[in-house]
Amino acid sequence: MARTQVLEVPVQGMDCAECALHVQQAIAKLPGVEAVNVLLAAEKAVIRLDPERVGLPAIRDAVESAGYSVPEAAASAAPPLAALNRQMTALLAVVFAVVLAVVVVGEWLGLFDRLNELVPLPVGVALVAAGGFPVFRNVARAALRRQITSHTLMTVGAVAALLVGQWVAAAIVVVFMRVGDYVERFTAERARRAVRELTALAPQAARVERDGVEVEVPLAEVRPGDIVVVRPGEKIPVDGEVVAGHATVDQAAITGESMPVEVAAGSHVFAATVATLGSLRVRALRVGADTTFGRVIKMVEEAEAHRGEVQRLADKFSGYYLPLVAGVAALTFLISRNALATAAVLVVACSCSFALATPVAMLASIGASAKRGLLIKGGKYLEALARADVVLLDKTGTLTLGQPQITDVVPLNGRSASEVLALAATAERYSEHPLAEAVRRAARDQGLRIAEPEHFEAIPGMGVRAQVNGSQVSVGNRRLVSAPEAAAVAQALEAQGKTLLFVAADGAPVGVLAAADTLRAEVPAAVAELRRLGVQHVELLTGDHERTAAALAGQLGVRYRANLLPEHKIEVVKDYQARGHVVVMVGDGVNDAPALAQADVGIAMGAAGADVAIEAAHIALMREDWRLIPAVFRTARRTMGVVKLNIAFTAVYNLLGLTLAAFGVLPPTLAAAAQSLPDLGILANSARLLRQG
Ligand code: ADP
Ligand code: MG
Repeated sequence: MARTQVLEVPVQGMDCAECALHVQQAIAKLPGVEAVNVLLAAEKAVIRLDPERVGLPAIRDAVESAGYSVPEAAASAAPPLAALNRQMTALLAVVFAVVLAVVVVGEWLGLFDRLNELVPLPVGVALVAAGGFPVFRNVARAALRRQITSHTLMTVGAVAALLVGQWVAAAIVVVFMRVGDYVERFTAERARRAVRELTALAPQAARVERDGVEVEVPLAEVRPGDIVVVRPGEKIPVDGEVVAGHATVDQAAITGESMPVEVAAGSHVFAATVATLGSLRVRALRVGADTTFGRVIKMVEEAEAHRGEVQRLADKFSGYYLPLVAGVAALTFLISRNALATAAVLVVACSCSFALATPVAMLASIGASAKRGLLIKGGKYLEALARADVVLLDKTGTLTLGQPQITDVVPLNGRSASEVLALAATAERYSEHPLAEAVRRAARDQGLRIAEPEHFEAIPGMGVRAQVNGSQVSVGNRRLVSAPEAAAVAQALEAQGKTLLFVAADGAPVGVLAAADTLRAEVPAAVAELRRLGVQHVELLTGDHERTAAALAGQLGVRYRANLLPEHKIEVVKDYQARGHVVVMVGDGVNDAPALAQADVGIAMGAAGADVAIEAAHIALMREDWRLIPAVFRTARRTMGVVKLNIAFTAVYNLLGLTLAAFGVLPPTLAAAAQSLPDLGILANSARLLRQG
């Protein structure tokens, strides 16, 4: 079997979704390319290929012959943040309004007709040819590659106007082709901005200790293991462990939480967070793209690749749109024999607004969310979330704090309480389950020695088995250990919502431990809010016992399923999906990763620093805050609302434009001015999503 490799290639010169489509087609045609995704906002192509059959030179050639370029690797450093601030937007709107006013008034007063008569036609034709040269050249090049763009149609329209002697109309069409280009590039830039603003938060340099002296080095030279010095007010450049010093750290860049946290020796810190008070010496564990922040940026950049149904439809439609317009133009000419009306039809069409309607809104939302600690991996997930009607909740570590405490130790068969606890702690010594942690903590608190188990085995969803001092010790739930003599005491403890750990030695039960975990304070309000947002089914899924689950579910007023093994959780998800539900699964991303992946939307809580959770989930909440769950549902709905409005607006606008043009009501001059308006509308409408609250 051929080996495949994923290559990321920066692409320059893509100004519209149409362009991205052309690049995509050009690369996909190469032999050896298995899949390709061109990301307009991130300005790159992500290509899965067979390295033995195709390489960078061939890809560069393909991109260049499609009319775009692949910059040298050295030049691919972060492009400067374009000065696209509010003032620029306002200025653009004013310039646009003035040009529009001139055209409308000119048309109304008949100035254009007079100009047409005053200036001889050959002079006018020369003016149009000179002014429109770059556009015409691109159209000709595209035609040679047998590609038709919006500009192709508009050029045909301009030529039609020239043929009937209306050189002023042709000139105005040319002017607006260029204005439209600018508006479109501006819109695409604005969509990129949300991502770029995030990238701008990345630290660039670090102060590293080398041979006992502090030297400032570019980030690329920092290696894991280096000792990095961070002064008050500075950005922490790496993910690492504090080796000395105290500081309060503002982690908003990662978690969106502005409340600073205290760190000291032994604490973990994240790149791009800021040490506000105090200095730190940090041992670098991960740098650059490997840090939590680096991963977030990468995923936000690639979010564009995860297109939802709505966008796929819009993309498909924009493919049919140009032929449709050409057809309407042909009909107009056949029926009315009116060259100017035909020109107006050709000129009013711009397929780009259809292609922009979805990604501009999605990217605005995804970028703004990332700053609030909500990592959304693609528009697809926002789309699914807006339709979701089932929310499944994992218990341990998700609904609860995940720091259970051992509350009761009940010895059986003549053992002592401390003997049982010591035995259990030894067996649990190497388990990473939160319950194991609780057992070890309880043993340590009582001053018990945790011995070295000889053989250790974790059984997911059940417990652990280990060899301790020559006897076979099991700690876990009823699936693993049966203890009929403890039935009465077990029932009483479970009714209090406690989780039981049965302990057996050489097959005979020796005791029962009970653990209690605290429900997170914000959960009940968050669940109630999900209900208000129209989620019909909220259900608790747990590997815990029936009675324990019932006690917790009762507090929240939700349904539950208990005694589930990890694979059962996947089955529950599939079952709902098979019945036509759109399923959201909320978990900690660690031991429920498969169920998160199976769900339409898998949401992982508290993902900062937990790689598995970031990888497994479709949406990762960088802090453990349940208020973010209803918040992300609201974001999804707002975003879909904006997307739908964008599409509806574009459709109505274009339909109206086409109709008016076909009936000769809209002259080519106004048609040309009109075609760049929907992009501005989309931009303004989508900009609402940049402010998320
Ligand atoms: P949840 O679905 O609540 O997150 P898990 O799937 O992690 O729970 O575990 C399910 C059950 O398996 C736990 O409630 C516990 O009874 C048992 N269990 C799992 N791991 C251990 C362990 N290391 N020690 C004791 N019991 C365990
Ligand atoms: Mg769990």
